[in-house]
This record gives sequence, structure tokens and C-alpha cells, in this order.
Amino acid sequence: MKLEVSSEALQNMHRHAEADYPNECCGFFLGLEGDVRQVRVIREVENAKEGDQRRRFQIDPKDYQQAEKYAIEHDLDLLGVYHSHPDHPAEPSEHDRSVAMPWFSYIIISLQDGKASNTRSWRLNDERQFEEEPFETKEFSSQPKNLDI
Ligand SMILES: [Zn+2]
Repeated sequence: MKLEVSSEALQNMHRHAEADYPNECCGFFLGLEGDVRQVRVIREVENAKEGDQRRRFQIDPKDYQQAEKYAIEHDLDLLGVYHSHPDHPAEPSEHDRSVAMPWFSYIIISLQDGKASNTRSWRLNDERQFEEEPFETKEFSSQPKNLDI
């Protein structure tokens, strides 16, 4: 599936990843599910991994519940999870694959020396292998057009 990511959501993901460098950051993204997945907003969550967070992230179950609640309240779909790879390529690790859920998209932000350098999205196929999802950034107008005049 293809993703369209609002440029604001992408900027917010990058900002979060850079702020948490050299640790991995993580969070959810939400939007609308259709022929294309439209990523509209992100929800930062705390990396719940105990100990060294430079190569691992973990999301607390209560954060999943809160993200689901937020999605319902705002009439959005919970589309996936983003996390960062400090000084590492934007490719899922074996650990990422083992804990990934079907249906979710996984956006990975690679950082080089603390700056977001490459962002890619992945999704499990029926064999539980990751396949890359193409994505592009897009401006979504959050208000009806006639209010802009
Ligand atoms: Zn990872």
C-alpha cells in the first residue's frame, strides 16, 4: 500500500527522533485508511524499553490503548508505529519484524549524527516479511477551502 504523509506529521516525527537522539524514539501515526493511507497526525509515546534505548524501543500497552482511544475520539484510523534508528539505516531489524503487527505500517527514521537523514515505511506481508511501502509527503488542508478565502 502507498502512504501519503502530511509534511507537518513528517516534520514532527523528525523533530521527535532528533530530540531523543542517541536513543530510539517511538510513537503512533493516525489518519485515514483508503486506497492510500493518509497520515495526518502523530502521537509521541515514551520509549518504555528498560536499559539501553539506543537500539531498542518498546511501547507500553497502556499507550496502545490511549492511541486507540484517541483514534476513535477523533474519527481517525490508527495506521502504524514510527521509531528511529540512530546512526543506523532506515531498515527494520529482525527484532522489529518479530514484534510487528500485521496491518500496521512501520515508519523508520534513520539519523546520522543526530539529524534525520532518511525515512522509509514498511509493512508485513502474508509471510510476515517486511515489504517497503512507497510514501510521499503531502499538504492536507485541515479546513474547508472556503474558509481560506
Ligand atoms: Zn528498529
